[in-house]
Amino acid sequence: MTIGRGVIRGHAVTLRRFLVTFARDFRDGLALRRRGGGGLLVDLFRGPARGEERVVVQDATTEGLFTVEYPDERLPVYERFRVLPVLVYDDEDGNVRCTSCNICAKVCPPQCIWMVQAKSPKGTVVPLPEDFFIDMDVCMNCGLCAEYCPFDAIKMDQNFELANSERHQTHVFGLQDLLVSSAYYAQTHPEAWSGPEEVAERAKVAKKKDRRLQKALGVEA
Ligand code: SF4
Ligand code: SF4
Repeated sequence: MTIGRGVIRGHAVTLRRFLVTFARDFRDGLALRRRGGGGLLVDLFRGPARGEERVVVQDATTEGLFTVEYPDERLPVYERFRVLPVLVYDDEDGNVRCTSCNICAKVCPPQCIWMVQAKSPKGTVVPLPEDFFIDMDVCMNCGLCAEYCPFDAIKMDQNFELANSERHQTHVFGLQDLLVSSAYYAQTHPEAWSGPEEVAERAKVAKKKDRRLQKALGVEA
C-alpha cells in the first residue's frame, strides 16, 4: 500500500505540472503555438514546403523545453557545419574551377576521391575533370580536400539529407552530382565568401586556371 501511495503521489505531481503548464500557456497565448521561435499557429493538416521549414532555436531567451518537429522544423545549420564536399563552378562563365590536379585525392585520408582527367582529341591533358567521384559512405567529412585544393574548387557543403534506400551505385557521387554554382556557395557560406582570404584567393585562382587553360590550348594548337 505504501508503494501504491508513492505511485499515485508521483502521478499527481506530473498531472499538476501538466495542468499548470497548460493553463499558463493558454494564459500567455502559447498553447497552440510552436515553441522555439515559431510565431505561427500549429498547422495540423499541412506541413511546410521543402526548403521553407521553420528554423527553431533554443537559447537563453526560450522558455521551457521543446521537441524540434523535424522535418517540419529544423535547427539552424551553421556556416561551418560540413558534410560532403562539392565542386564549385563560376556563375559568370560556367567555368568549373577544378583542374583535376589530383591533390585532393592524394590528401584524402580514406582515399574516397578519384577522377578522370579531361583530354583533348589529340590526347593532350586539359586542366579540367572529365569525371570526378566521391564515395559518400567512405568520406569522413574531415574537410582536408577543401583545405588543400590550390584552385579553391572543392568546398564542404552543409546538406545532410543524403539518405536513400540504396547502398551502392547512388552513394558514389559523380561530377554532375557534385557541381554547385558559386552563387549557391556564396549563399550557404556568406561569411567565408566575403572574407578577405577567399576574395583574394578567387582572384588568384581565376588567373592561375586561365593560364593553365591557355597553355593547354596553346599546346593543342
Ligand atoms: S578539386 Fe582542387 S585539389 Fe581536387 S583535383 Fe580539383 S583542383 Fe585539384
Ligand atoms: S572531406 Fe575528408 S574524407 Fe571526405 S573527401 Fe574530403 S578529404 Fe576525403
